[in-house]
Amino acid sequence: MPWYRKLHWQIIIGLVLGLVFGVVAAAMGWNEFVADWIAPFGTIFINLLTLIAVPLVLASLITGVASLADLKKLSRIGGKTIAIYLATTVIALIIGLAVVNILQPGKTVPEDMRDRLQQTYQEDVETRTGIAEEAKERGPLQPLVDIVPGNFFESASSNRNMLQVVFVAIFLGIGLLLIPKEKAKPLIAIFDSLMALVIMLVEIIMLTAPVGVFALLAGTITSIATGGLAGILELLTALGYYCIAVILGLAIHTFVTYPVLLKIFTPKSLRNFFPAIAPAQLVAFSTSSSGATLPVTMEVAEKNVGVSEEVSSFVLPLGATINMDGTGLYQAVAAVFIAQTLGLGLDIGAQITIVLTAVLASIGTAAVPSAGIVMLVIILEAVNIPSAGIALILGVDRILDMCRTVTNITGDLTVATIVASSEGQLHAPPHGPHYDPVDSIEEAFEEAQGIG
Ligand code: ASP
Repeated sequence: MPWYRKLHWQIIIGLVLGLVFGVVAAAMGWNEFVADWIAPFGTIFINLLTLIAVPLVLASLITGVASLADLKKLSRIGGKTIAIYLATTVIALIIGLAVVNILQPGKTVPEDMRDRLQQTYQEDVETRTGIAEEAKERGPLQPLVDIVPGNFFESASSNRNMLQVVFVAIFLGIGLLLIPKEKAKPLIAIFDSLMALVIMLVEIIMLTAPVGVFALLAGTITSIATGGLAGILELLTALGYYCIAVILGLAIHTFVTYPVLLKIFTPKSLRNFFPAIAPAQLVAFSTSSSGATLPVTMEVAEKNVGVSEEVSSFVLPLGATINMDGTGLYQAVAAVFIAQTLGLGLDIGAQITIVLTAVLASIGTAAVPSAGIVMLVIILEAVNIPSAGIALILGVDRILDMCRTVTNITGDLTVATIVASSEGQLHAPPHGPHYDPVDSIEEAFEEAQGIG
């Protein structure tokens, strides 16, 4: 098969074409045309992915837990997973703080631009600080209460509530593990079959990824550049240094920290790891949502990295909701950048407070676009920076959201690989390191015809 017919290359081509087309469309003022006729295909792609995210998490976790030999194993894998997730987030935050303190991007924003940004985004700031305020006013144990839903269907109706779905699935799985085998069997068989179905649906949806990614990129660029290309260029000149600081921090964490951890704790070759997870990274970049990317993350982990279903079905849905290294790193850089721009000093105590609150904020951030900036408000308030300061960075947030989401899911996949390796559950990938659902769909068609 020629290289350009391979799916991962087609997704990259879709991404680049979407970028180029978005810039041309913004320059030509075709914003409305793109919003009406192109962006909807991106929305359809995201909707298809999020549509199957809840059934996937539910089915994979229930069957995963119910097939465990005993509950001790669950708590061992769980404890290990959460400890590594926390450790990698703290490393990410330290990298973020180091980069922003060394580069000092806040010192480069001209004063008139600073005032203009604050005026332009005033309204946006009010809605976001409102949401953050609501989150803050609740009691200290509220995050714990939030994990346990009173009504499962309500949690399943929004991808923001993924953690509740994770909780229900584990709870049901434990129950199934404890009731007599013959009673549990039919229900487990149903979820098993649901799981196989959802995996096939992910493969079909991924065939449309090149078009979906093209539409998402074109739509995002034209929606950012509503004031024309000149407006966005001006914004990028003022905030370029800040963007470079965030992207540099993310790049160090993604391409240095994770590879080092993989090298130390797993036998995995890095030459195979990154090509294997590239499709998930591309989808994360174009959707800005680790929740929407979850089906692809799980698929590449099992088929192309070689993580067992038992580990991936537990570690990845949990990671998509609580492990956000990219978001934490970005929040640390953003908080210090805002303080620098406003001329507020942050001593070492304040920077430690940023690390502590950012760990919690990144856990509490929903796996959807732009959620990270809402939680940033809470960090700002913890260190006495006026939350209106987020006006300074709102204009470029979407671009950074795309980048931090890539780091978020790469972190999940790295930890899944480490946990699988430590449990003796990292195998040679059944489909090789290169993702290609076309083969398995063709195989399935042939098999179906054979039966017919
Ligand atoms: N978009 C990010 C994610 O889904 C969250 C955020 O930082 O806004 O992973």
